[in-house]
Amino acid sequence: MKQEKAIIVFSGGQDSTTCLFWAKERFKEIEAVTFDYGQRHSLEIECAMEIAKELGVKHHILDMSLLNQLAPNALTRDDIKVEDGEDGGLPSTFVPGRNLLFLSFAGVLASQVGAKHIVTGVCETDFSGYPDCRDIFVKSLNVTLNLSMDTTFVIDTPLMWLDKAQTWELADQLGALEFVREKTLTCYNGVIADGCGECPACKLRNKGLEDYLTSSKSIEGVTL
Ligand SMILES: [Zn+2]
Repeated sequence: MKQEKAIIVFSGGQDSTTCLFWAKERFKEIEAVTFDYGQRHSLEIECAMEIAKELGVKHHILDMSLLNQLAPNALTRDDIKVEDGEDGGLPSTFVPGRNLLFLSFAGVLASQVGAKHIVTGVCETDFSGYPDCRDIFVKSLNVTLNLSMDTTFVIDTPLMWLDKAQTWELADQLGALEFVREKTLTCYNGVIADGCGECPACKLRNKGLEDYLTSSKSIEGVTL
């Protein structure tokens, strides 16, 4: 039996779109929320809007421009280069407390629309060192949200322990591999689908896809 209602934190990227398909199977009703914090490419917001529309999901876009005021970073500023962290440091795309804020605002929205579940695509496996993507943080925030609103939210994190290849596998199991591959935007340079191929996000996404397609082919090979 499907559970009642969920809010999904939705960026229009590979991970949150896979979560959207995951949530559609589980909940009677879902509403997506996208945070506009001055991303370099407004295309990201448009992409999220398109996907939500195509899947018939109610979509909220919330203005979070104050995040960019507080913490300018490579996701919002053209003059800051997208770089991996050196020597285990955080990458230049890191925004302190971003998931803390997004999940908290999603909690307020969930309480407003009567949703018990909050779905997010955060992932500890590929977390690049972002502390607020860790499982322990999400569990801690879940308790805090429940205490703050005297309610019983459940934060669902279907991708928490998956690597990128397994996330593609999940999309495939949900019958959404082609959709996710062709319609989502992960690339830091704003190129939809397979992306620019050069930025850190593209490298991670494309390697995961390659690994998944290679392993699924070799499994087919064995069964034949
Ligand atoms: Zn790219």
